[in-house]
Amino acid sequence: MRLLILGGTEQASALAAALACDAGIDATLSLAGRTQNPDAFPVKRRIGGFGGAEGLVQYLRAERINAVIDATHPFAAQISANAATACTTAQVPLAVFSRAEWSPVNGDRWTFVPGMAGAAAALGAEPRRAFLTVGRLALGAFAAAPQHCYLIRTIEALDAGAMFAHCRHIRARAPFPIDDEVALMRAERIDCLVSKNSGGVSGRAKLAAARALGIEVIMVTRPPASGAENVSTLEAAIDWIARHRPAP
Ligand code: NAP
Repeated sequence: MRLLILGGTEQASALAAALACDAGIDATLSLAGRTQNPDAFPVKRRIGGFGGAEGLVQYLRAERINAVIDATHPFAAQISANAATACTTAQVPLAVFSRAEWSPVNGDRWTFVPGMAGAAAALGAEPRRAFLTVGRLALGAFAAAPQHCYLIRTIEALDAGAMFAHCRHIRARAPFPIDDEVALMRAERIDCLVSKNSGGVSGRAKLAAARALGIEVIMVTRPPASGAENVSTLEAAIDWIARHRPAP
């Protein structure tokens, strides 16, 4: 079976690792190429865009792909839409492997907003000390709210000083222990955390820290799903793949 995994998430890495020992599956993990030093993966890897849905159709045909798992980030709406269109055109089965959304629990102070511009507006008119954990490419929306002081955490390098008058940038990659998140938010006197509703384990500590400190969380809700079949656990993804193996 020739399988394409659209990646860039911990789900994609876990699936690649789980399939590496299966001699019956020839898996390729595709990455957009946004991260400079992506982790090593135990399956074949390709990097860079396909050239829209049409380019992906060509790739699926040229590589004789039997099935596609879209394990991209829930906020990567363009590639998921392209995958849905391309798989329909090329008549290749597609499943979305997406982690469950986070939901608030007792003690959480969450404000849900539908997009990044909404998150910037939800900070309000009065200056605040906001912790932005939304990813480098989403920061532009906060230029509309320059009155706030931003603590910005990204995986990649960033010239945050060129973007915001009042800010501090930290370059770091998850996982982050809860105690460290509490200490950081305290030391920086954070009064608001801004997060995408990414779901998953590695990003949960900041939410627990905000709860412990009584800090408001502005939670950006997910873009609409592509409509393809969804699997939410590694076991379900492996089961879906088994059900779509071509007949010998
Ligand atoms: P996006 O807006 O949905 O995609 C933009 C373009 O990037 C796509 O049209 C495609 O180019 C290319 N692309 C995206 N994912 C790809 C993949 N896995 N393999 C090959 N090409 C890909 O995506 P994004 O929000 O910029 O995210 C880019 C990558 O970072 C994704 O793989 C995603 O899983 C990961 N990521 C995103 C976020 C987030 O919050 N958005 C967070 C963590 C990780 P072509 O049209 O040329 O094919």
